[in-house]
Amino acid sequence: MEAQIGFQPSYAWRSICSAKRVIEMGSRWTIGKGQHVKIWKDCWLPNNAGFKVCTPINVLEADACVSQLIDSNTRSWNRNLISQIFSPFEAQQILNIPLSWRLPNDKLIWHWEKDGNFSVRSTHHMIKEADNLNIPEASSSNNQEIWKAVWKIKAPPSVKNFLWRLAKDILPTRGRIKRKGLSLDTICPLCFEAEENRDHLFMRCRLVQQTWFCSSLGLHVPSQRSLQDWLVEWLSNKNILASQLFGITLWKIWQGRNLLVFQNTPFDPRFRASAATDFTFEFNGAENSEVVVVPTSHSIDPW
Ligand SMILES: [Zn+2]
Repeated sequence: MEAQIGFQPSYAWRSICSAKRVIEMGSRWTIGKGQHVKIWKDCWLPNNAGFKVCTPINVLEADACVSQLIDSNTRSWNRNLISQIFSPFEAQQILNIPLSWRLPNDKLIWHWEKDGNFSVRSTHHMIKEADNLNIPEASSSNNQEIWKAVWKIKAPPSVKNFLWRLAKDILPTRGRIKRKGLSLDTICPLCFEAEENRDHLFMRCRLVQQTWFCSSLGLHVPSQRSLQDWLVEWLSNKNILASQLFGITLWKIWQGRNLLVFQNTPFDPRFRASAATDFTFEFNGAENSEVVVVPTSHSIDPW
């Protein structure tokens, strides 16, 4: 599968190469023993774009195989190792992959048919879906930086999972769902003034700007920044409590938005801000952490 198209390819050769690409795009490994599937190089995560792992290489070597994530005694996933290595979103995907007690051989299957066998009929569906999955990737260094920052935040896995999805721009905001080809009202459900995309929902929306201002961080949202840059800057803030409060406030904004959309609960900026502070303190209290001091309003340079 390594051949290149080359200079002045014949029609037949060109057809073979594009067929090869179609087959590569739609094939993934199902895990048996995991010995023939490389964690970071092969296609095996059923819900990821291209079925590949996005979490940057860490803990294990670049060529490590999936078998290294399986406890051969209990024949189950090594949960501790998996949660150490992968983003919460990917860790959950891996843990959801069923393992057979017999640990059969790994098998390359065609993802788009139930029986796993290739069919021309399903390629059309695949190409359409693959376009939807084609999420613009941040540059890998930025990806790595943000992943590390999300990982370090002191917060429960559900919050880390949310932050990772926010950073990857895969949260189902109305604007994003529209780009995936579903017709839907894209207006922001909070202010009804602009399209609901992640920059609007977490930075530009006036109700959200009030939330940031009311929060213990007392932030003025910078007008020239993108959400991605703002996120990297705050999540990697040396003040652990500040970055934690920042991440949890984002999460509380998303929760408030979902309560409004799905349960018609009004979005109250003050309440969202205090819910973030309360949650942070309860979490830190439960963690028995050291006494923490809330940064007073504007004590941290928000820019
Ligand atoms: Zn809005």
